[in-house]
Amino acid sequence: MKIPFDNSYARLPEQFYTRQDPKPVAAPKLIKMNTALAELIGITPEDLNTAKAAEIFAGNTIPEGASPLAMVYAGHQFGGWSPRLGDGRAILLGETVGTDGIRRDIHLKGSGRTPYSRGGDGRAWLGPVLREYVVSEAMAALGIPTTRALAAVETGERILREEGPLPGAVFTRVAQSHVRVGTFQYHYARKDTEATKILADYIIARQYPEAAKADQPYRALIEAVMDKQAYLIARWMQVGFIHGVMNTDNMSIAGETIDFGPCAFMDTYHPGTVFSSIDHAGRYAWGKQPSIAHWNLSQFAQSLLPILHEDPDIAVGIGQETIDGFQDIFSDYYFNGFGEKLGLLTLTESDPDFIGDSLKLLSDNEVDFTLFFRHLTGVARSLLEDGDDKGGSVENLRDLFKEPEALDNWLVSWRKRLSQGENTPAERHEKMKSVNPIFIPRNHQIEAMIQAAITGDYAPFERLLAVLSDPYNEQPERADIELPPKPEEIVHATFC
Ligand code: AMP
Ligand code: MG
Ligand code: MG
Repeated sequence: MKIPFDNSYARLPEQFYTRQDPKPVAAPKLIKMNTALAELIGITPEDLNTAKAAEIFAGNTIPEGASPLAMVYAGHQFGGWSPRLGDGRAILLGETVGTDGIRRDIHLKGSGRTPYSRGGDGRAWLGPVLREYVVSEAMAALGIPTTRALAAVETGERILREEGPLPGAVFTRVAQSHVRVGTFQYHYARKDTEATKILADYIIARQYPEAAKADQPYRALIEAVMDKQAYLIARWMQVGFIHGVMNTDNMSIAGETIDFGPCAFMDTYHPGTVFSSIDHAGRYAWGKQPSIAHWNLSQFAQSLLPILHEDPDIAVGIGQETIDGFQDIFSDYYFNGFGEKLGLLTLTESDPDFIGDSLKLLSDNEVDFTLFFRHLTGVARSLLEDGDDKGGSVENLRDLFKEPEALDNWLVSWRKRLSQGENTPAERHEKMKSVNPIFIPRNHQIEAMIQAAITGDYAPFERLLAVLSDPYNEQPERADIELPPKPEEIVHATFC
């Protein structure tokens, strides 16, 4: 297999990484290769010979042109500071520039110990690998910025986890870069201003070339990252996504969803929803994600203080003023996005309150988040025909509510609000359909898929991947995938 590597990160000075090869595994076997993504990043399809691909994506063969390394970073984990984390079980093989001109990292996860492994074994087990494969590809199909899944390989080895010995796997992830808030924090904490400047200039050149033209390029960098993150968190929330571990080392400077550990999509709507088994205090609950993102971004701004201005007081002023803009930027993305989900394409002054009240209605009635917006889209469709609700969307909606009369009252105010809008019913329906998915990766489906895979049955994995690749369109033969869990199927906690 020929991968057209061009490794810009490996050309940075050595304080940014340790050169490290992946550790070979016993018996590599390819589970899945994302051929469309492979082509996009510049791998020719004839080269996807599976035996060779398994060797490469298990880390047993180092492809020509790779410069394998483990990146160093620090981070706040659940608010507590760790001065050195780094890739403890991952290797950056190198980068390619895709057919779309975008530079991307190719990165193995579960590829063995590195100098940053601390107490860990450097490995990953099959469950989280398949979870990340499915959820990251679902995210991409939903149109939300994310790292992607290029390959998954079985290692033929067993690894020890709390649950007992489990099948090992290696995941290959593709990202616009793996530089995190924690990467900047590492160099700031070491008072290595030269490294901070090299890294900031590197990221501006690679991802934010517009910032180079600004009066204050590093301030422009903070603004650009803040904008990407505000958009990302709003999009997560609009599909009911809970990242689960929003530590500063898991926040990407490129603004992609990264590190799918105990992440989950909620079924029943409640802003306090948490799934992660390690998030005891609910720090990273669905509704807390904006304030955590804001906090993480202030850590990012702080890391740039030494290069924002030579006068430390002025630097703090610039950093603070920039970060203070987060709430407004986020609110715009959040309310416009939820407005679109409700068919309100141009917001009025009272719409944020209407949106807030609508979400309150959902939590009071313990309504399934995805199905609410999906069936509301059905009601919007009936409004654009002859008002005749042929699909029975109103009944479907009523079935979701503990108190259906509450819905009836809400529908009256919703219809009234729609009638005041400037958009046509067709425009509204079209928009709603494009932002309200029918299919999301529900926890119980993922859990069932993992359990099947452990026994060697990958059919549920393939089926989930297929249905989630087209989340906004009806797929009648796969309608079971859209259903919320039955009481006995509910997954209460997710693990990394
Ligand atoms: P995460 O919680 O996945 O963001 O990981 C936090 C840190 O722990 C990172 O430095 C990881 O590389 C490291 N880590 C997680 N799992 C392992 C493992 N099994 N072996 C070594 N390091 C790990
Ligand atoms: Mg991480
Ligand atoms: Mg992780």
